[in-house]
Parts: sequence; C-alpha cells; structure tokens
Amino acid sequence: MPPETATPIFRSEEEMARLPASERIRYRLVGAQCRYHANDNIADFIADGELEELQGEVEAKMKEVLRSLVIDTESDHNTNDTAKRVAKMFLREVFKGRYEAMPSVTEFPNVSRLNELMIVGPVKVRSACSHHLCPILGKVWIGVLPNEFSNLIGLSKYARICDWVMSRPQIQEEAVIMLADELQERVKPDGLAIVMEADHFCMHWRGVKDDESMMTNSVMRGAFLKDANLRREFLSLLSKKNGG
Ligand SMILES: [Zn+2]
Repeated sequence: MPPETATPIFRSEEEMARLPASERIRYRLVGAQCRYHANDNIADFIADGELEELQGEVEAKMKEVLRSLVIDTESDHNTNDTAKRVAKMFLREVFKGRYEAMPSVTEFPNVSRLNELMIVGPVKVRSACSHHLCPILGKVWIGVLPNEFSNLIGLSKYARICDWVMSRPQIQEEAVIMLADELQERVKPDGLAIVMEADHFCMHWRGVKDDESMMTNSVMRGAFLKDANLRREFLSLLSKKNGG
C-alpha cells in the first residue's frame, strides 16, 4: 500500500469507480491537500451513497477483526451481527461528526445589542479517545460575551455544534479548541470561554490510573483572557450550575 501522504497519480472516472469508497474519498482528500485526522470532518469529500459503501467496507473488515480474535461468529448468536452493528455505530452514531455536514445553524443579528455574559451548559459530551477508541463522557460549559456585531444562535444550536465536534475520535485538548474555533467563527463574540470536564473510559477499562480518569480543560479567548473579573464571574457561575 502506498503511504497515505503520497500524491496520488491521476485516475480516470472509470478507475475511480472501481475503487472502494474509502480509497475514492482518500484520493479526493489527498488531491485537495486536506487533512483527514481522526477528529477532522470529511463530509465535503463524500459523494451521495458513499457513506453506505463505507459502512459495508467497515462491516467486512470488522468481520475480519472478529475472525482474528478467534470468535466463532457463525455459531455464536451473540456475535452474528456484531460487525454490522459496530460499522453502523461508528459511521452513523459515535463518529458521525466526521462524516456528516455541520448542522445548519441560523444566526440572528444582535438587534437588542446584548452584551452580558451568557453561559450555556452543561452540554452533554459523548466522544471517544483517538488512542483506544474508548468512550469519553462528560460535560461542556460555554461562556459567550457578545458585542453589538455578534451573531446570536439559538441555545440548542450550541449543543448541536458541540455534538458534531465531539462525535469523532478526539483528544480532549484538541476537542475544546475545535469547538471554540467553530463557535468563534459563527458567533464572533468579544469573549469566548469553554470548559470541558470528561471521564475517559480507557482509564477505567484498561490501564491502571483509575483515579485520574477525569480530565478538565478550558479555552479562554478575547475578553475572558484580558478581564480577570469576567473570567471569575464565568467560573463562579459555572461552579454554581455544577452544584459545587
Ligand atoms: Zn484512550
């Protein structure tokens, strides 16, 4: 197999059609010099019907994994359809944030010129670690300080954008930055703060550092960086909301 970073040689439409969907998508990504790490969204490079094809590919390979784990999926009724279930779970559920386009978000001009600190959360986080593909479950709080030129988005949209970013194999430090970038671009606030607290199941299920499974990360931008009082206000409201 050629290295994934190699520039692909030109392929005709016919040749492309004969390739597995994952190879076609990879070909387009490499051609566009677009990164496709575990936590990147690649929806723009997936044509109609190719997600179904990808699901079929993952199912077939998952069957091989079970075979290599020496599990008799033929006579074991519990694992008969496991490959199929796992493929569906990866592509349609837990990693769907890689394959689905960004949820549509309506932005409203800030007509009443709100400029007060607004806190959204806790927003439930369901993600997985890129290292082991083990679940990461947690919460996110978002603090926004709008200005008169900011776009406002509905409260439920924060949760939808958060879910879209988190439904990928992630690294918590990168996940909070990705979420901040998405919100920054849409809302354009004077200040943006994000705090994420999550439980990493790879620490429970495997490994030994059970007591270190909770991790807290934050991103502070704009006014939250410059203004210590604003930062304090956000953190104190957040701890009240968290019952602390
Ligand atoms: Zn892990």
